[in-house]
Amino acid sequence: MGPSVVVHPRGVERARSGHPWIYKSDVVEAHAAAGDVVEVRDPRGRAIGHALYSDRSQIALRLLGRAERGSSPGRVRDLIRGRLEQAIAFRDSLAIDATAMRLVHAEGDRLPSLIVDRYDSVLVVQALSQGTERLLGAIVADLKELLQPSGILARNDARSRLLEGLETKVEVLHGEVPEAVVVRDRAVGFEVDLRGGQKTGLFLDQRENRWAAARWAHGRALDCFSYDGGFALQLAPRCEEVVALDISADAVARIQRNARRNRAGNVFARAANVFDALREAERGGERYDTIVLDPPAFAKNRASVAKALGGYKEINLRALKLLRPGGILVTCSCSFHVSESDLLDVLHAAAIDARAEVVLLEKRTQANDHPVLLGVPESGYLKCLIARKL
Ligand code: SAH
Repeated sequence: MGPSVVVHPRGVERARSGHPWIYKSDVVEAHAAAGDVVEVRDPRGRAIGHALYSDRSQIALRLLGRAERGSSPGRVRDLIRGRLEQAIAFRDSLAIDATAMRLVHAEGDRLPSLIVDRYDSVLVVQALSQGTERLLGAIVADLKELLQPSGILARNDARSRLLEGLETKVEVLHGEVPEAVVVRDRAVGFEVDLRGGQKTGLFLDQRENRWAAARWAHGRALDCFSYDGGFALQLAPRCEEVVALDISADAVARIQRNARRNRAGNVFARAANVFDALREAERGGERYDTIVLDPPAFAKNRASVAKALGGYKEINLRALKLLRPGGILVTCSCSFHVSESDLLDVLHAAAIDARAEVVLLEKRTQANDHPVLLGVPESGYLKCLIARKL
């Protein structure tokens, strides 16, 4: 008999409700080694399904399939191959007007703890659990067959791997991976540092929000927390000028290179702490017609939500004060622990303090190549509101 894990009825219930994670505290007995594909059973010995097992993480089991659907551990390879094919076919069907996109969004594609992003002809993968780490060789073989990439890079330097007891490393798994890859997003070209850039190189999850922001953008624009100029460069053709701010000098240099590459002479990048820069702009009486706020996750966990909301409120308040009447605010939060309604409350409170009347134009979420699986809130995290100051 293969490896198996017996789980408490609480874990069984959770699995029935559609969530693929079973916590360590609900594991009764484990006859398995790190990273095994295991049979999951209830205390009476009934099969629940099969899962990836981790002997270190609080998330002990990540279900791949349920017993009633007739899947067995022996068929795991076929199952993963099938899900990779489905994930890729779904992206094909989206006909995304860009050469960088997410092909596999982990739980959202029923491939728990696996990320696959495409940057032109190169793939970047992340294996975020012991189970996907073990399966990575097979996954890479499938990806080579299905997509014929010129190179595959593992960005296995995500901190969440430490929770799994896995080492963090960046390595080429196949072919050639150049230092810089150039991708196209609609008409805009971006240079991407796949080995060292944030996430797997770009913030792919904001793609359609940038396009939406560009539809409303006008006049003088300010792109706060700009990273590589993702918003700034999409906005530039619609605006007189775009000022892009980021605290990192590397990011500013990258925005400037991207601006030159796209001959966007109206994009001006500057290294600044957004909190200080907004305060100074207010003191200096500056005015903008379009402001984008796309900060890093201020709330990394539940405990820091209250403090994070204070941070969101401050930048939204200052941005609303800087906007001219008729101005557009694009405000985002990628904190999983801050909900859309929290962000709406923050915006409302900021509007009251700024003595501004604000209408909501769009409530948006992450790009549609980052699907959210119902019942798995963790697969969705990005909120983007577009509002207009009256
Ligand atoms: N808007 C970007 C993604 C932003 S990621 C896009 O569309 O791709 C968040 C960025 O905020 C990072 O580049 C980080 O360097 C920057 N950052 C973090 N704290 C900051 C601060 N206090 N002031 C300015 N930039 C900051």
